[in-house]
Amino acid sequence: MNVIKSNRMKLFFCILITGTLFAAPSCAQKQLQSAGLNTDQTMDSLPSKIIKTDEEWRKLLTPAQYSVLREKGTERPFTGLYENNYEEGTYYCAACKNALFSSKTKFDAGCGWPSFYAPLIEKNVNIQIDRSHGMMRSEVTCAHCGGHLGHVFDDGPKPTGQRYCINSEALIFKSKAEIEKSQSR
Ligand SMILES: [Zn+2]
Repeated sequence: MNVIKSNRMKLFFCILITGTLFAAPSCAQKQLQSAGLNTDQTMDSLPSKIIKTDEEWRKLLTPAQYSVLREKGTERPFTGLYENNYEEGTYYCAACKNALFSSKTKFDAGCGWPSFYAPLIEKNVNIQIDRSHGMMRSEVTCAHCGGHLGHVFDDGPKPTGQRYCINSEALIFKSKAEIEKSQSR
């Protein structure tokens, strides 16, 4: 009788430990998500994360796009294609077509680059500390291909107070009409 009870206890603990082990990763993920940290970097509508060699990116991008997206360059202010574009639509990553910003959050910051107060979907961009040029800034990159987009500052308008200062060369704009046309095909 005692042997059976002991075996049952062993089985119980075995199930308990196994359950804890398997449950652990999802618990950690939930904690990260509740802390506002993104654990899922896979873009919903695109194939898995893009990794290409420099040579492949050079073939795919124009020299100006390559300079910004792959070499963290900055286009000269007030020269970009989208700085004064206020047509309704969506801005995509010029390298991988990840949807990044909406015309709905675009505003005139007067700084010479397209400015947005929020990304289209938070997980589609990554933010990291940039200590280059003797400054401490928050760099914005595409979460799908890792391409450099620009920087984000805390001097934006309501409701977020943020200013995503983005290079036109890192973006491709599609108007609402163009998007609807391609979806109805
Ligand atoms: Zn991208």
